[in-house]
Amino acid sequence: MIRFENIEILQNENLAKYTTIGIGGNADYFIKISDKPQLYAAIEWAQKNNLPITVIGRGSKSLISDKGVRGVVLQLVGMDSIVIDDIFVYVESGASLIRLANLTISRGLRGLEWAVGIPASLGGALVMNAGAYGGSIADCVLSVEFFNGSSFETWSNERCGFGYRKSVFMDNPQYIITAAKLGLVPDKKEKLEQLAAEYKAKRQQSQPSGKSLGSAFKKMKDNIAPGEILDKAGLKGYTIGGAMISPAHANFIINKGDATCQDVLILLEYMQDIIYEKTGLTPELEIRLLGEF
Ligand SMILES: Cc1cc2nc3c(=O)[nH]c(=O)nc-3n(C[C@H](O)[C@H](O)[C@H](O)COP(=O)(O)OP(=O)(O)OC[C@H]3O[C@@H](n4cnc5c(N)ncnc54)[C@H](O)[C@@H]3O)c2cc1C
Repeated sequence: MIRFENIEILQNENLAKYTTIGIGGNADYFIKISDKPQLYAAIEWAQKNNLPITVIGRGSKSLISDKGVRGVVLQLVGMDSIVIDDIFVYVESGASLIRLANLTISRGLRGLEWAVGIPASLGGALVMNAGAYGGSIADCVLSVEFFNGSSFETWSNERCGFGYRKSVFMDNPQYIITAAKLGLVPDKKEKLEQLAAEYKAKRQQSQPSGKSLGSAFKKMKDNIAPGEILDKAGLKGYTIGGAMISPAHANFIINKGDATCQDVLILLEYMQDIIYEKTGLTPELEIRLLGEF
């Protein structure tokens, strides 16, 4: 382990345990960040050593290469404060989306009921514009604060390029999101709790158990769901190595225990081919690929 200022830098750290699917090779260097001074130190160390930076949140959308990630991986989940001021919420990017949703609901603030059950960090949710049941994080974002590689900037919602499972941050992986300001709407706490409970129950019925990264592909034009096409093609349970199309939801890939990134990539390509064969459409990958491919 290397020490630099207020940070500890792990070498050759395996990343599988930092993802919900439990797959991935090693990061050359890995740093857990708990506050802004640590983030400054990590950026300074990486820049001094001319190393690229990759950020992960809760790893619930990240498929990490078997070859690992070159340079420095920063995990921001320790930077997780949530400050509520009237209808405004200032959230650091490592905060759990589930904790944020539960907290705001308990304060009688509407806007994040759909998020109960999504195992994201706020940062990952902003990059992906995570959403469910007709809501998405973009609906309540007022501004996003990030490091652009040389300085900090704060952008209003309009500049963030939010769309269906996309944002400007997705196309600019050098941007490190540190926090966001959200604006929510006062409402009856009991009503919000009931709504969140309904969404949670729906999710429990439809969402597969097991290690996954959520939906593999985005919905296609005319709202065509890749999972339905794959289901009709009889692919539930189809397996490559340790990676299996979930028997419960055909757009989810499950790690049966010993899946490699390569297994998942082969399966994804097969799923894409079948969808193309059945619809003439090529579905866009929702899963993010991180590392050396
Ligand atoms: C069981 C399950 C259910 C799910 N249900 C849903 C759902 O209903 N709706 C939905 O939209 N998604 C869902 N997902 C997918 C996933 O939770 C979301 O995409 C989530 O937004 C990813 O957040 P994360 O913190 O885990 O991101 P990560 O996987 O850690 O990162 C995702 C991407 O964001 C980047 N990133 C992360 N943090 C930062 C940061 N601070 N600054 C800059 N870049 C950053 C990473 O480099 C990567 O490219 C589900 C996943 C699972 C496993």
